[in-house]
Amino acid sequence: YPAATTTEGVSDTHRAGQYGGRVPRPTSFAELGVPAAIVEALSASGITQPFTIQAETIPDLVDGRDVIGRAPTGSGKTLAFGIPAVAMALERGPAHKKRPRVLILAPTRELAGQIHDELAPMLAAVGRHGLAVYGGVGLQPQINRLSSGVDVLVATPGRLEDLIQQRVVSLAEVEYVVIDEADRILEIGFEEDMKAIIRCLPKAGRQTALFSATQTTNVVDLARLAIQKKPTFVA
Ligand code: ADP
Ligand code: MG
Repeated sequence: YPAATTTEGVSDTHRAGQYGGRVPRPTSFAELGVPAAIVEALSASGITQPFTIQAETIPDLVDGRDVIGRAPTGSGKTLAFGIPAVAMALERGPAHKKRPRVLILAPTRELAGQIHDELAPMLAAVGRHGLAVYGGVGLQPQINRLSSGVDVLVATPGRLEDLIQQRVVSLAEVEYVVIDEADRILEIGFEEDMKAIIRCLPKAGRQTALFSATQTTNVVDLARLAIQKKPTFVA
C-alpha cells in the first residue's frame, strides 16, 4: 500500500482494510448499521451478504465519516457508497426541488446509468427519487426531473456543470458526495469541471467518499480538494 503518496496532505487518518483487524467478520447488512427498510430491499434483490469492501466502508459511511477507498473492479463498490446514500436520503426526508441531498459523480454515461439502476430498487422501497444525468442526451427531460425533486443525483461532471450554470440544479443542500472512479474522471479530462463542482458544494458539514482503482498524484490532489474531514482509508 503506497502510504506515502496516499496519506500525505490528508493526514491523521486511520485505516480499515482487510488486514487492519478493525472490521469484524460481517454477517449481515443490518449489523453494519443499514436501516431495516434498505436491508429488506437488498434482500428482495438477492443481496444478503456484504462483500469485503462493503463491510469495510459502510459502518464509517453511515456514521458520517469520510472514506477514501481503493478496491478492484467487481468488488462491490457501488453498494459500498450507494447503500449509505440511500440511508441518508431516507433519514433526511425528501429533497427540495432542484436541491439533491446526495451527489454521486461518475466518469461516463454508462457508469452513471449503472449506478442509478443499482440504487433504484432501494430508493423506490424507501420512497425517494434518483436520477442519472449525463451528456449526449437532451437537457429538458433532466431539467424537468430535477425540478420535481431528486434525492440522489448521479452525474457525469460535464453535464452537471452545464446544469449548474443553467441554474436548474443547486448543490447547496448536498450532504454526501461520492466521487466514483476518480482516476478515470481525471483521465477523461474532467479536472476543471470537478474543481468547479467542488466549489459549488457546501463549505462545511458535508460528507465525502472517493473511490479509485489507482491513486496517482492527481487523484490525491482531488481528494484533498474534496474531502473536509479525516478520512478512513480502505485499500
Ligand atoms: P465495482 O464498482 O467494485 O467494480 P460493482 O459495485 O459494480 O463493483 O459490483 C459488481 C457486481 O457485484 C454487481 O453486479 C453487483 O450487483 C454485485 N454485488 C455487489 N455487492 C453484492 C453483494 N453484497 N452480494 C451479491 N452481489 C453483490
Ligand atoms: Mg464501480
